Amino acid sequence: MVAHEEDDDVETVHCPQCVGPGILLKQLGLRLHYRCRNCGAEFSQVEEPDMSTPAAVARLIVRDWKNVHYAAKPYLNAMLDLQNINDNVDHDSGQSVVRYFLNNAKSYRTPRAKAYKAALKAFCGMKT
Ligand SMILES: [Zn+2]
Repeated sequence: MVAHEEDDDVETVHCPQCVGPGILLKQLGLRLHYRCRNCGAEFSQVEEPDMSTPAAVARLIVRDWKNVHYAAKPYLNAMLDLQNINDNVDHDSGQSVVRYFLNNAKSYRTPRAKAYKAALKAFCGMKT
């Protein structure tokens, strides 16, 4: 089942110049822009989360979407068990679970949302 992951998403980023701690300035998609607290240098990092399965993407969305819309929630929960898009969840196909989730996730608009939704669409062979 779903592993308990708590403290692995809070990690300090380090300045490439002086290894000082980075302060997050802004986020564009999966690219994060930082300014070093020590020397003021600006740098960016690209997140490369595990998006290899619908379940992996669902775990990322659970972390990222703070107020999951009630209509999307059952599909998000179902996706947490979906290791393969060709599997079924209860009586629904994996594809339909993902598509229903996307239809009910219009209010999911964090900086990362677009990348995660694109990954889900790709599983279904939908255009992104
Ligand atoms: Zn620095």
